[in-house]
Amino acid sequence: MSALYGTYARSELAFERGEGARLFTADGADYLDFSSGIAVNALGHGDPHVVGALKAQAEKLWHVSNIFQIPEQEKLAQRLVDATFADRVFFTNSGAEALECAIKTARRYFFDKGQTERHDIIGFTGSFHGRTLGTIAAGGNPDYVKGFGPVMAGFKHAAPGDLEAVRALVDDKTAAILIEPVQGEGGLAVMSDAFLKGLRALCEETGMLLIFDEVQCGYGRTGRFFAHEWSGVTPDIMAVAKAIGGGFPLGACLATEEVARCMVPGTHGSTYGGNPLACAVGNAVLDRILEPGFIEHVEKMGQVLAWHLQQLAQKYPHHVTEVRGRGLIAGLKINPPVRDFVARLRDHGLLAVAAGSNVLRLLPPLIITEADVEEAAGKISDAFAALDAEAASAAQ
Ligand SMILES: *Cc1c(COP(=O)(O)O)cnc(C)c1O
Repeated sequence: MSALYGTYARSELAFERGEGARLFTADGADYLDFSSGIAVNALGHGDPHVVGALKAQAEKLWHVSNIFQIPEQEKLAQRLVDATFADRVFFTNSGAEALECAIKTARRYFFDKGQTERHDIIGFTGSFHGRTLGTIAAGGNPDYVKGFGPVMAGFKHAAPGDLEAVRALVDDKTAAILIEPVQGEGGLAVMSDAFLKGLRALCEETGMLLIFDEVQCGYGRTGRFFAHEWSGVTPDIMAVAKAIGGGFPLGACLATEEVARCMVPGTHGSTYGGNPLACAVGNAVLDRILEPGFIEHVEKMGQVLAWHLQQLAQKYPHHVTEVRGRGLIAGLKINPPVRDFVARLRDHGLLAVAAGSNVLRLLPPLIITEADVEEAAGKISDAFAALDAEAASAAQ
């Protein structure tokens, strides 16, 4: 029996080594990685520039407390500010912590304005914001809060896409709206430009803050640096993580000056968040993501992937009911139970992830080639064909 908590239904696979979009087991079997450690390994495995930066920093300085100046952290923050709506950054070690900072910032903003009763946040069904006590309440997924009560107060949920339902939840206690522009865990629902614009307008009208969770859909994955750029809508606060460290635990909460001003000394902190080693890696990852042509490549590969997914939907209409997602956060809503199908794909040498609503989620490294996409589509096709062959022989 494993000495670990049994919180994961793990596959038997263990990998020894990675290279680009491939993972290798100790016995040399190779897998095409369309999961990227759940949207983390944006540059694939073993990116030489990032490995070099990590080694160089490891020789110099790993960690100092945030009570000192950390030049690598200042630099990464400034670069994120220069590339986004934001003016200020707080670094964390994970996505959930980035969300915790976002939620605390929103509540404290109204507290400082003397609106101390204004602390409620409107989230959405099907959303995912992490596994801390605060973020399971924010996500509202009944399976994730079950048995961990009392559930933290101050969160309400509307159906994504339904602006009138959101409006109906607003009262004098509402502080903010929290949304993933593209839902990850929930099943790859893409929020329409009109809906995001409607939320922004509602925030302007009522003084609420708009918080985007771009932990999974951000950092180039949709073919824009951040997914909200497609809509032209900017948030007041944004949570970022996963790809920001390329595999090193790192997250960030970004905010405008107007909002972040309330977070004065003593209001928040993190021992590790933004330490020199993490930020050296973060800067190296950002070097690559912001290289001219990098995000354009993602957009192009996203189009290639979407085309192949459409082909699969046409070829296997009895298995595929919908093509979902945007860019390289994409997938198929399927009929066969998705967890079984993900296991089947592993047998074909493809790593993918299950998402809510029985969606097969594909999160390849952003560096994949057209040939990789074709190979992945071929493996998915083979797995559907094998299902059909089994059904046919069972019927005989
Ligand atoms: C993964 C994820 C989180 C939580 O990130 P952790 O690093 O696991 O804490 C939050 N929001 C979204 C959208 C995510 O995909």
